[in-house]
Amino acid sequence: MIDHRRLGRELDLFVSDPLAGAGLPIWLPAGAAARHAVEEYVRELERRAGYQHVYSPPLGRRELFALSGHLGHFADEMFPPMRMGDDELLLRPALCPHHALVYRARGRSYRELPLRVGELGGMYRAERSGVLGGLARVRAISLNDAHNFCTLEQVGDEVREILRLIRQAHAALGVRPAGFRLSLRGPGARYVGDDASWARAEELLRAALDGVGHEEAPGEAAFYGPKIDIQIVDPSGRESTISTVQIDFDKPEKFDLSYTDAAGARQRPVLVHRSLVGSMERLFAYLIEEHEGAFAPWYAPVQLLLLPVDAGQSGAVDRVARRAVDAGLRVEVDAGGSLGARVRDAARRRVPYVGVVGAREAADDAVALRLRDGRSLDPMPAADAVRLIGAVVAARSAELLPAG
Ligand SMILES: [Zn+2]
Repeated sequence: MIDHRRLGRELDLFVSDPLAGAGLPIWLPAGAAARHAVEEYVRELERRAGYQHVYSPPLGRRELFALSGHLGHFADEMFPPMRMGDDELLLRPALCPHHALVYRARGRSYRELPLRVGELGGMYRAERSGVLGGLARVRAISLNDAHNFCTLEQVGDEVREILRLIRQAHAALGVRPAGFRLSLRGPGARYVGDDASWARAEELLRAALDGVGHEEAPGEAAFYGPKIDIQIVDPSGRESTISTVQIDFDKPEKFDLSYTDAAGARQRPVLVHRSLVGSMERLFAYLIEEHEGAFAPWYAPVQLLLLPVDAGQSGAVDRVARRAVDAGLRVEVDAGGSLGARVRDAARRRVPYVGVVGAREAADDAVALRLRDGRSLDPMPAADAVRLIGAVVAARSAELLPAG
C-alpha cells in the first residue's frame, strides 16, 4: 500500500524528528518547494476571486478565545495556556477570532460586502500522540482559510462561488473528492445559536448544493453552524475532510460585528468560513499518496533535472540551467556518476523532465528531453525546451506536453 510517510522520506519531502516532537513535521526543501507552488496558486486563485489576504499571529489572549466560544466548546482540543505576566496566552485552534478582529478594525459599509478575508495561517490541535502520523494528523496545522462576511441575501451566491473555486483548485491539484457531505446538527447540546438561524443556514446550504450529489450527516456540524464538507479517502479507506464551507450566525453576534446598510441602519453580517484545499499538511498527505509522488509539473519540487553526459558539457549545462531558472523553473544539475544511474535516480525522484546534454547538444545549445512517463523527444534548442516546460507549468496541466 502507498504510504505518504514512506514516500515522503524517499522523496525528501518532509521529516518527523522525535527531538522536535510528534505531530510537528518539518518540510524539507523539496516538500517546501512543492508546497510553496501550491500556496502561490491558491493565493492567486483567491486574489482573482476578490479575496484580501492578511497575516495574524498563531496565538492570542485567553479572552479572545473565550469570546469566540472556542474555550467553551473546543478546549479539549487546545493546548494548555501559557502564563505571560497578567495574561494567559493560547495557541489558536482556528483563525476566525483574528479575522473577526480584521473585520472590526474599522466601521464597515454594505458597499464593502462580501468582504473576503484570506490567510494561509498557523493553528494548533492538541491531538493525542496515538493518532499522529506523518502529515495526515498533526499538532501544528497550516490552513488555507478565509472568512467571508456578507449579507444574508448574499450567502447563496457566495457559497456557490466558493464551491466553484473548490472544484477549480481540485482540478489543478488532481484531487478526486469521494463525496460532498451536508453536516447538520445531531442530538446533544453542544451547539450555539437559535433554531431559526440553524434552519435558515441549513436551507441556504441545501439550496447551494442543488444538483450536486451529496449525503446528509447529522451530528457532524460545527458547534456554531451547519457546513458542507468535501471528503477524500486515503488508500487505506480512511475518510477525511479536505474542503469546507460553513455558515455562522453566531460569531458576528459574539464579536458584535456590524455594517451600515443603504438606509444608514446598523446590520449584522453573516460569516461564511471556508477552506478550498484544507491544511497544507493533510493536502500533501493526500497528494503524495494519490499521485505516488509524481506531482503535476507546476508543483513538482524539481521540474527539470539536467544531466551532462560527461564533464565536457558542464559549461553548456550551466547555461541551460541559467536560462531555465531565469524563466521561473525549478532546476537542478546532476553531474555525478554514470548517465544510466542518474537517469534512474531522476525516475525514482519522479522528476517530470530530464534534459540530457551530450557533446552534440552542447555544440548546438540544445537539450534532449526525456519525460517522466518514458517518452523521449528529439534534441531541441534549449530555449524551446524551456518554453515547452513553461507552457505546461503555466497551464497547470497534469500532462507533460502542451496541448495541441
Ligand atoms: Zn473559521
